[in-house]
Amino acid sequence: MTNLQILVVKAHPHDFTHSAGTLGIHTDKGDDVTLVVVTGGKKAHNEKLATELLKPKSEQDPNIINEPPEKYAEQKADELRQAALLFGINDVRILDGGEPFRVDENPGIINELSEIISEVRPHILITQSPYINGSGPHGLIQPYVNNSHTETAYAVERAQLHSSNPEHGSQIRPHKIAATFYPGVYFDRGDWDILVDISDWYEQRVEAETLFKSQGHNEAYARKRIEISCGAAGWTAGTAYAEGFVRSKPEVFDSLTLSPRTLQRAEESPAEHINRVTGTKT
Ligand SMILES: [Zn+2]
Repeated sequence: MTNLQILVVKAHPHDFTHSAGTLGIHTDKGDDVTLVVVTGGKKAHNEKLATELLKPKSEQDPNIINEPPEKYAEQKADELRQAALLFGINDVRILDGGEPFRVDENPGIINELSEIISEVRPHILITQSPYINGSGPHGLIQPYVNNSHTETAYAVERAQLHSSNPEHGSQIRPHKIAATFYPGVYFDRGDWDILVDISDWYEQRVEAETLFKSQGHNEAYARKRIEISCGAAGWTAGTAYAEGFVRSKPEVFDSLTLSPRTLQRAEESPAEHINRVTGTKT
């Protein structure tokens, strides 16, 4: 098999980090990753501004209050590029999908995504979940409903359809993507199909999280977040840190197949297991 082409399409810059450890493993193996964000995140997660606006007017920092959204977007683009580099990703593309992104208001994004699919010809697509999953307190629908994340998922679905079934007059070279994965963070843990052991990428995940200063992150917060998110996924996987994924459809094999990791977990001693979960080198 030749190197894998992996296309990642996310709504906002920070969203790619949820599967970044897995992407690092692939770039290390020589696979190619193209990272696309549909919006620059100009209006999302401006914690610095929110913090400033909570202060009395006389104590507010005018530099933060009057910062143009373009400058904030530039900072986010820089943070995204730096974070992507930690995982060996150089090909980063920021589209202008408008914010909040609504595919029916910006249908041009579908064509842009189709062109990217046709150019990159990915074997694997990692993108936002199109499913409306779970409910919040008192059945309140969570903010993932009808927001930029799900809208990105719908745009990607339509772009895939375009790429695989070109219409008359289309210049797009057809391409079918072999497998689509959604990051596990958008699902309940019981829905995960695949867990990737990212224990060797824990520090890069913390560093990437810390890089998003525009979202108010610092190292203590980053470490806590990765400990509880990748740590909980690792606990489920029987390893130190992991990233979960949900497949868009079942994969076809020639026979029942076990990964070496699955066998290792069954065959290792309890002491070896504890050392692996705690990241203790023996
Ligand atoms: Zn997001």
